[in-house]
Amino acid sequence: MPDYDGIIIGAGHNGLILQAYLGKAGLKTLCIERRPVAGGGLSTVEDPRHPGFLHNTHAFFQRAITTMPWYADLALERHGARYIEPELNVALLTSDGRALEWWTDIEPTIASFAEFSRRDADTLRRWQHEFVPIVQDILLPESRSVPLPPDERRALLSRSAAGRRLLEVSALSPLEFVHREFEHPAVQAGLLFFNGLREVDLRARGFGHHIAALLASPAKAQMSRGGSAALARALEAAVRESGGEVALMTEPARILVENGRAAGVETAEREIIRARQFVASSLNPSQTFIDLLDGALVPRDIREQVERFQYNLLAPLFALHLNLREPPRYKASADYPELARAFMVIMGLDHVDQFHDIVRHHEAGTVPPTVMWGACPTLFDPSQAPAGHHTAFMWEKLPYRLHGDPANWDGARDAHGETMRRLWQRHAPNLSDAVVGSFTRSPLDVERCLPNMREGDLLVGAFTNDQVGFNRPFRGAGTYRTHIPGLYLCGSSSHPGGNITGLPGYNAAQVILGDLGATLDAFPQQHARAG
Ligand SMILES: Cc1cc2nc3c(=O)[nH]c(=O)nc-3n(C[C@H](O)[C@H](O)[C@H](O)COP(=O)(O)OP(=O)(O)OC[C@H]3O[C@@H](n4cnc5c(N)ncnc54)[C@H](O)[C@@H]3O)c2cc1C
Repeated sequence: MPDYDGIIIGAGHNGLILQAYLGKAGLKTLCIERRPVAGGGLSTVEDPRHPGFLHNTHAFFQRAITTMPWYADLALERHGARYIEPELNVALLTSDGRALEWWTDIEPTIASFAEFSRRDADTLRRWQHEFVPIVQDILLPESRSVPLPPDERRALLSRSAAGRRLLEVSALSPLEFVHREFEHPAVQAGLLFFNGLREVDLRARGFGHHIAALLASPAKAQMSRGGSAALARALEAAVRESGGEVALMTEPARILVENGRAAGVETAEREIIRARQFVASSLNPSQTFIDLLDGALVPRDIREQVERFQYNLLAPLFALHLNLREPPRYKASADYPELARAFMVIMGLDHVDQFHDIVRHHEAGTVPPTVMWGACPTLFDPSQAPAGHHTAFMWEKLPYRLHGDPANWDGARDAHGETMRRLWQRHAPNLSDAVVGSFTRSPLDVERCLPNMREGDLLVGAFTNDQVGFNRPFRGAGTYRTHIPGLYLCGSSSHPGGNITGLPGYNAAQVILGDLGATLDAFPQQHARAG
């Protein structure tokens, strides 16, 4: 193996984005990935029993990818990426046959809210209006840069009216926010569901701004044409164009540290790969600091912080995937014909109080009454199924430790898939004849496939007050640097966290290039920020 300037561990989208930027800056890099394909959560697989039916087994709804700075910087459309943003972005189907709708445009969204509560529709307009500048001027820039220490951030925010308003609203919990501001139980439930998607503990103070921020965000759900893996392929192409290499089916055994600096990686095959300047890990803190570093190199306080790192109780997902002769046709379309083109569809959720029940079940390791959401991707991208056919999926938040042990999922998967199918069929009766194949995936399957998603946590670490921003993954490692010079973090355990945002990788690129004294047009102010 030749020597490299840097080695990146894990070829998920964050690792690949970091690598492509470093390549553009002229660095010679290698990314090592344990799986036979790159992309991590950007995964599209063909059903082996039914050729031509493609399924996105991890990330599918991707927020505002086309507005991300890396999407343009890395010229991903030139490398084949294409995104679709359906106008009826989200529809919540209630058990009494109504639909609460979020459109990419705020006006039809407000009209839909008004069918449930005139007052809630007015409240929605007010919060959306008030938070647009807060999102644009504060929250978006914060997500795209190295986090400030909490005291400095608070002092900075306190200097402007918008900043003070943000601090005031975030002092609430999401539950307090919706109960204070909205009145209709289905509207409250729908809004919290959006917040739940971000996996914040709804009871946790410090996150009260999340709902208002989502309402005001330009970030609507999009999907990748050709499947989520098409974005991974475009990222890989950008990496290779910039001279980067990706070694698949290569697992690190340890990170080499020489003279106090990260110096490379030894693989499970006992191969030594040297890195002149840095090693960056997109894995979780236990993998990086405990599995891959010699114990003598990890001071006790860091080891203790790593051991305390929490994964999301509520993040694990169970998935039911269907191959179909025709798309689901929802009963509610009789009154809401636009549902035939709905993107994300939510079922089983009628009342805000169901969240308490879901949390209780997750704590006990039992299965709550089904609340599920999903899509029929082929309505918008027929290339994901054979001609005239469709694929569709539903996800449900279910506990990782089913009845105390994740291994119980292997025996319980099919029966649970059947429970979900029955609920789906109640809303879309044509599913009784339309299904030509199906499979399920449990939270344990997620962890088996992507071990960085420990306990099935797809956000790779809980969003709690001491694990966000400067403190993510923990205090002292929140600027993508670690206690070992030349060893960096670049995955979802770092700010701003999980989901397909690419921002941990994007921010880590700014820091690493700043530390190396390298420059890139994309990051004109990197030295000032990263220093
Ligand atoms: C069922 C499910 C549904 C989801 N839905 C959405 C969604 O709709 N929208 C959304 O935005 N997000 C969604 N996510 C979350 C999203 O997939 C993740 O948050 C995102 O993939 C994290 O990106 P990453 O690059 O940090 O890590 P990953 O994508 O997990 O990439 C990490 C890479 O590291 C590799 N790796 C792990 N361990 C090692 C090792 N020891 N050695 C070498 N390589 C290793 C992995 O194989 C992987 O390729 C979903 C996830 C799941 C599981």
